[in-house]
Amino acid sequence: MLVLVIGAATMTRRPQPSPAPAPDTAPRGVLVTPSGVVAPILATDEAGWWVRTPCFRVGRADAGTVVESVDVVLDPGHGGGEDGAVSPDGLREADVNAAVAEQVARRLEAQGLTVLVTHPNAYTLLLHPRGEIATALAPRVMVSIHHNSVYERVIDEPGTIALHQKDSAVSRRLAELLDAEVGAAIAPLGDRWAAGDDLGPQRKASVDDPRWDWFGLLRFSSSVPSVIVEAAYVGNGPDGDPPSSPEGPLLATDAFRDAEADGIARAIEAFLAEPPATTGEPPAHPSGAPAQDPLAASCVDPADVSLPV
Ligand SMILES: [Zn+2]
Repeated sequence: MLVLVIGAATMTRRPQPSPAPAPDTAPRGVLVTPSGVVAPILATDEAGWWVRTPCFRVGRADAGTVVESVDVVLDPGHGGGEDGAVSPDGLREADVNAAVAEQVARRLEAQGLTVLVTHPNAYTLLLHPRGEIATALAPRVMVSIHHNSVYERVIDEPGTIALHQKDSAVSRRLAELLDAEVGAAIAPLGDRWAAGDDLGPQRKASVDDPRWDWFGLLRFSSSVPSVIVEAAYVGNGPDGDPPSSPEGPLLATDAFRDAEADGIARAIEAFLAEPPATTGEPPAHPSGAPAQDPLAASCVDPADVSLPV
């Protein structure tokens, strides 16, 4: 605290922020603010932190806890006002994702692992900052948890899908473990996906479609072994599809969520116990520039990390 004495009056001056970092600054570590906002740290000064905001802007924060690294990053897909898939009876994918992520975190922490969940399901978090949270923490693994409806008509059977980083044997290994462990965990709870595993590589599809970037998370986190897992379908999708998935009602049950969380946690533990060698590994899916995120225009940053206007 600086104290300036001017004549007979005493004034205190608050520390001033350093100049804003360049927008392309690579963050190191994350700040978790008092309201639970997770923000990659771009710079630290006497007055607080410059951070990347959930809407992928440069913002300020003056309070919070710094997390420098963790073993595992869990990313519940969507969240806040962004529903993700919604079942005909109103079950929001975002809420299922958050509930399962919390349970996976509990299981991993009970095994002595450190875990960070990318957001508290209270605000919109764009894809690029999700990737930055991972790269800023350099965890041993990141798993993004989703439950889908509309994507990929080529997969016309319900079931578990694990999407890995293109050309990454490490990410593919994690995807295979997630596919196997989650599939085994939920198999006793339904019959359509327990009937057989004949979808082959489609279930472990890599993502390289330039037309859209819904899977940009896998590029933005390219330095971290990352997988998106879709354990089951919230609904079968719009446009004349059957009005509901047989899996949708199951996703509302504790039994299903418990089983799924068991499967995800077991897959992560198995991966960490025996990670594939990385020597000679080609780079993961190239990181590239931030794609046009369809949510960016309407994204509103939480007050904790907003720049004053
Ligand atoms: Zn989703």
